[in-house]
Amino acid sequence: MTVYCATSNPGKLREFQLAAPDFDLRQLPRPVPPPDEDGSTFEHNAAIKALYYGGFTDGYLFADDSGLEVDALGGAPGVHSARYAGPEATDADNNTLLLQRLDGIADRRARFVCVIALVNNGKLVRTFRGAVEGHILDAPRGTGGFGYDPLFYYEPFGCTFGEAPIADKMRVSHRAQALEAMFTFLRGNAASAGNQSSSSRQ
Ligand code: IMP
Repeated sequence: MTVYCATSNPGKLREFQLAAPDFDLRQLPRPVPPPDEDGSTFEHNAAIKALYYGGFTDGYLFADDSGLEVDALGGAPGVHSARYAGPEATDADNNTLLLQRLDGIADRRARFVCVIALVNNGKLVRTFRGAVEGHILDAPRGTGGFGYDPLFYYEPFGCTFGEAPIADKMRVSHRAQALEAMFTFLRGNAASAGNQSSSSRQ
């Protein structure tokens, strides 16, 4: 089954491709300027992106909105994760600001959240959510992954997502969970469409 995905983030794209070996995952044939992500929830922003990019192709397309929620910061950076340190912020800028905001704070609990919105022929089908719990270190560790990965310590691995091989991160991550839920949904839809067409032939 062909599914279009909309992202300009190479870190996310690599993870999308790893998650769906049995799907023909494609990007839009030409780059499209991004929409304004002005929603206050991951669900809202994922739907904004999927509905916008879905207007450029027929069939299934998904977009994700994701970020880091830190308990001691009231859930920040949350939906503002990509631009936490400003509109042109790099991952390093965002990580530096996060460490400043957490300076002297003992409670470092945090989670990554990912919401995927799926559209079909430009109409919203549904959203899928994944989350993974960890805590924020005092300094970055590892050079793998992207975004806040080098600061995100994942207890079951005994290391940060920046130190873990990408294949390991993709067994447990927020994005892997949301993707798996979506692909399970799509496989179920494909199977029931197949059953319906075979029973209508009987
Ligand atoms: P979005 O493109 O608006 O969804 O922004 C997502 C931002 O959240 C990224 O730019 C990262 O800063 C952060 N983020 C989301 N998922 C991850 C992840 O898997 N690892 C590290 N940072 C992430």
